[in-house]
Amino acid sequence: MDVDVAVVGAGPYGLSVAAHLRHRGIDTAVIGLPLDTWKNHMPAGMLLKSDGFSSSLDAPVPGWRLGDWAARNGVPYHDTRDRVVLERFGDYGDDFQRALVPGVDERLVTSLRRVDGGFAVRVAGDPEFTAKRVVTAVGITHFARLPRSLQGLGERIRHASALRTFDRFAGQRVAVIGGGSSATEVAFELVNAGAAEVRLITRHTSLQFWDPPTDDEPTWIEELKNPLSGLGRGWRLKACADFADAFRLLPVDRRLGLLARFFTGSGYWLRDTVERGADIMLDTTLLGAKESDDEVILELEHGGERSTLTVDHVIAATGYEADLDRLEFLDPGIRATAKRVGSMPALSPGFQSSIPGLYFVGPIAAGSFGPLMRFMVGAEFAAPRVARRIDARARRRSTVPAPPVQPVPTPLADPAGSVVK
Ligand SMILES: Cc1cc2nc3c(=O)[nH]c(=O)nc-3n(C[C@H](O)[C@H](O)[C@H](O)COP(=O)(O)OP(=O)(O)OC[C@H]3O[C@@H](n4cnc5c(N)ncnc54)[C@H](O)[C@@H]3O)c2cc1C
Repeated sequence: MDVDVAVVGAGPYGLSVAAHLRHRGIDTAVIGLPLDTWKNHMPAGMLLKSDGFSSSLDAPVPGWRLGDWAARNGVPYHDTRDRVVLERFGDYGDDFQRALVPGVDERLVTSLRRVDGGFAVRVAGDPEFTAKRVVTAVGITHFARLPRSLQGLGERIRHASALRTFDRFAGQRVAVIGGGSSATEVAFELVNAGAAEVRLITRHTSLQFWDPPTDDEPTWIEELKNPLSGLGRGWRLKACADFADAFRLLPVDRRLGLLARFFTGSGYWLRDTVERGADIMLDTTLLGAKESDDEVILELEHGGERSTLTVDHVIAATGYEADLDRLEFLDPGIRATAKRVGSMPALSPGFQSSIPGLYFVGPIAAGSFGPLMRFMVGAEFAAPRVARRIDARARRRSTVPAPPVQPVPTPLADPAGSVVK
């Protein structure tokens, strides 16, 4: 075999897993575009939803949390009060990658198939190389969900993941489909970009925004009633954050139901702009869409009444649906035989699928470990565990003693702008 492990994906999960594997002396190849989703598929200048303390990649050595990086670079930071600007998170992620996971192959895996003793991996048009084990950490971009009524139409209809900047919508009439945080973020960007009309169309009966933080520390009673976790405030979120292993023990239907209903609300900083600048159409269902050369006609239903709405563009902020079948680089034999939870792979406590040696982390692992996997804070749970399990299995099969752990890389002194707005 050419390498022990191939990690497919270089987002927070892939980089964290790779950092842990390499720290254990495991020969690990990493393929993927570093932090691609964050650099190319999220609105420029966006503020992260996750708090500062839950916006780190997971390192096997101290000194590489976002707060450490901010302190080293003279960048203002607070665990919960200051919001993290997307671009500063990207700077931090780049430094993490350069220091802890150098030599990422910044291309895409085009095929992955089983061979004797492991897997054959093809990157772009290169000859295949072999790996004993593969960790798939491909994030969300394969899984954009477009409502059926918007499928097969043209350029005027896009998924939110295809948009990083919104200037092109100045003076345009735009409908945003969806009622979650992605929809409110897109509506916010459109209002700020000077769109002539922003219609936010949602089946929800209200939009949920978080309360803004106060300067006072919460009392212990407030903390008890509304505890803080890596997913936000409240017992429901804390249970998802702290008991990911328990999620695996629930019946499959219950797990899928919980995932379908899971919702964290929208950032409080979006609220004023969205409520002031967008026409929020609650309790409204999109029935169909027709596109002509220069406009789109939407057919809507509200309170039993049908109506039409004409706009210049439609943006589907309708989220993502992790589905093994949409990972086309996986050999059809792998997709056909892997055991599933809904459309996601069923995973062992060590994140291994029913295909020996094939691991999955990140949002596609949510069927086994719950909503925690949809956020980067879940890498703190997944990365050390996957590396530990792979290391233990590798050592069981070999007589070679464990190599010494790698030295701690010196943090880079890299000047940066402000991490907060
Ligand atoms: C608008 C928006 C805002 C969000 N805000 C937050 C937030 O504030 N905090 C938070 O925790 N989460 C947030 N999320 C969710 C976030 O996207 C996930 O937490 C995160 O992407 C998961 O990290 P990941 O490593 O699994 O995947 P990603 O960051 O999506 O990275 C995927 C990696 O896989 C690679 N890849 C894909 N296909 C292949 C292939 N065939 N071969 C090789 N590599 C491949 C990509 O190049 C990339 O390197 C947000 C999502 C959206 C859409």
